[in-house]
Amino acid sequence: MHTQDPLPPGVLGQLHGEILACRKCEHAGYLWEAHPIAGGRSSATVLVIGQAPGVRSMARRAHFMGPGGQLLRAWLSRGGIPRERQDEAVYFSSLTRCYPGPALRGAAGDRKPGRAEIALCAPYLERELALLDPPLVLLVGSMAINHFLGRAPLRERVGTIVFQDSRHWLPLPHPSGVSRWLNDPANQRLVDEGLRLMRAMLDGAAPGLRGEETASTSHAP
Ligand code: SF4
Repeated sequence: MHTQDPLPPGVLGQLHGEILACRKCEHAGYLWEAHPIAGGRSSATVLVIGQAPGVRSMARRAHFMGPGGQLLRAWLSRGGIPRERQDEAVYFSSLTRCYPGPALRGAAGDRKPGRAEIALCAPYLERELALLDPPLVLLVGSMAINHFLGRAPLRERVGTIVFQDSRHWLPLPHPSGVSRWLNDPANQRLVDEGLRLMRAMLDGAAPGLRGEETASTSHAP
């Protein structure tokens, strides 16, 4: 259950320090060089979990700094968190915290982190989930969705809010544009429905998140 009690000062900062100092994947030979990204505020009521930082995110030392990040922030606005509130209300994270490098054999996009890398990085994400205890977790992209909810076609996941393991999870496609999934208008409508559920849920579950009086009911399951 989300208590919304303030975190003791320094707890999140200590975790960020541990992440930034991590070189586990480098030592294990999965990365040539590890440059972890960590940050975010304890005031966040929504946790966003993506796949891994892209090259622009690595350069700017923050998550979702590429073109997909602009679309994600627009989705967050439509989901009830205006851009001017996103820095304090949204905590961005990912399955792994280091840029995994380009995709292999000339494929588009970035290399997907392997299971072993995800397992090495998982304790950080588990601690973030436990510390923030957010009322809503956005899973961005198939890798994050499958990791937490199990494998299923994106079309069966997007457009719903799943209550599982005592948490509400909102699956969304990855906004990077590498996938053509979003080109299909039917899939766009699923995203619209997911964002509608998000807005309705935040109205009920996190009053004041939008900086205005909110309704008392949520249409989320
Ligand atoms: S991806 Fe995670 S576990 Fe691997 S080196 Fe980076 S911070 Fe450490």
